[in-house]
Amino acid sequence: MFKTQSLNSWSNWAGNQTSNPLSIKKPKNEEEVVTIVKEAKNRGLKVKVVGSGHSFTGIAVTDEVLVSLDEISDVRDVDFENFRVRVGSGVKLFDLNPILQRSGMAMPNLGDIVYQSLSGAISTSTHGTGLGFKTIADAVCGMRIVDGEGKVIRCDEQQNPEIFNAARVGLGALGIITEVTIQCVEAFNLHAIEEIIPIGEVTNNFEKWARTTDHIEFFWMPNTDKALLKRNTRTMELPSKPRNRRHALKRRWNRFKNEEIKQNFLFGAMNYAGKAVPPLIPKFNSMVAGENGRAEYIKNSYEVFASPRRVKFYEMEYAVPIDSGIEAFRKVVELIGDLDHYISFPVEYRVLGKDEIPMSTANNRDSAFIAVHVFRNTPFEKYFKGVEKIMNEYDGRPHWGKLHFQDHETLSNIYPQWETFQTVRRSIDPQGVFTNPYLDKVLGPLT
Ligand SMILES: Cc1cc2nc3c(=O)[nH]c(=O)nc-3n(C[C@H](O)[C@H](O)[C@H](O)COP(=O)(O)OP(=O)(O)OC[C@H]3O[C@@H](n4cnc5c(N)ncnc54)[C@H](O)[C@@H]3O)c2cc1C
Repeated sequence: MFKTQSLNSWSNWAGNQTSNPLSIKKPKNEEEVVTIVKEAKNRGLKVKVVGSGHSFTGIAVTDEVLVSLDEISDVRDVDFENFRVRVGSGVKLFDLNPILQRSGMAMPNLGDIVYQSLSGAISTSTHGTGLGFKTIADAVCGMRIVDGEGKVIRCDEQQNPEIFNAARVGLGALGIITEVTIQCVEAFNLHAIEEIIPIGEVTNNFEKWARTTDHIEFFWMPNTDKALLKRNTRTMELPSKPRNRRHALKRRWNRFKNEEIKQNFLFGAMNYAGKAVPPLIPKFNSMVAGENGRAEYIKNSYEVFASPRRVKFYEMEYAVPIDSGIEAFRKVVELIGDLDHYISFPVEYRVLGKDEIPMSTANNRDSAFIAVHVFRNTPFEKYFKGVEKIMNEYDGRPHWGKLHFQDHETLSNIYPQWETFQTVRRSIDPQGVFTNPYLDKVLGPLT
């Protein structure tokens, strides 16, 4: 029987969302998920799956029945011919990527971390960067879902196609996904070029570069005129082998120095110091932005896409139509200059190709993504509300898992397939077993 814990408290990664669920359940298979849903429904309780708790919004919060699918994370089938993999939906991306690599496959694209569960990542429209590539959810080609009655639905492009299309970005509102089939690609490496260059040069050339580079993004450090530009090109060329043991150790040290010491340890220390003495923030930002540095290397795809994030922060991210992206970014730069306090975290800029998933933030439009961050436990409302006001001018769509202040009345106007999603929601969960206060706010009540 599934494990049940009681008297629990839960918190997300950033620590800004907490709850005290009545119970935490850890089913081992789909039948146990069915039992949990039926029991909860009979007792009039709500059920919420939590993946890795890496959303900043209250999307995964519940004070009723919390379900963890950590024990449903097995690899069920590997179709080498068609590059398809069928897995238990609780699998974490950091476990899945090496498994795919060993099978000669890879996820087509990834975000900048791999701590998420697969089902959590797809449910919030998690994405990486690259105009020729799409959301992680777009790689899903089949699912098994337990609906609000405790019935199991299989869906893909042939069976229950409306459910399939909506539930790829289901926000946790369209049942419990127990199994996912992913359309992978042949394993590939990335030729990475990372440069610190003037922000003006980046913004003047970015649109052109974005159309000719597989994966491109930049991070601008507020109060500086520098940006870190990352350009990754897909390649089958192998990472060059270290010349000897000393060379191998040096490479490992360089990577540790960049990712752990500079991006995590030093950046964290500067943020603590900046919180205590805010006027030091511009100086620290210049140090983080650094001089005109450059790194170039080849590694397997998932090791280049993702890196560790140990300094905790709060984040908001908006998707706007691709042609408005740089204009919107320039307005964010102006806003930061006008704020009455300093911002110690970079602004991130990415791009993505459109898809046809109703609640995907890139639904029906090639998009630019602008993300703003603040150090955890520091004020964010004035900054994020100012950014949101700018994004509203461009029909911006907030990331479902990152902070925003929208509700269903504003959001329904910017998703052309809003009603399609709501129809599926009403059919899968007529009694609102999977809803919570965040979903009531952003999707509206079930009527
Ligand atoms: C440090 C950091 C870096 C990030 N980087 C990126 C990035 O590069 N790109 C990006 O787009 N986002 C990024 N995010 C956001 C993150 O990818 C999303 O918030 C994602 O949803 C987190 O996955 P999770 O497993 O933690 O899901 P959770 O936050 O635990 O849950 C998210 C939603 O998924 C639902 N869910 C989970 N499992 C199931 C299931 N089996 N069935 C039905 N519903 C389910 C939950 O109920 C909830 O509604 C980042 C977040 C952090 C903290």
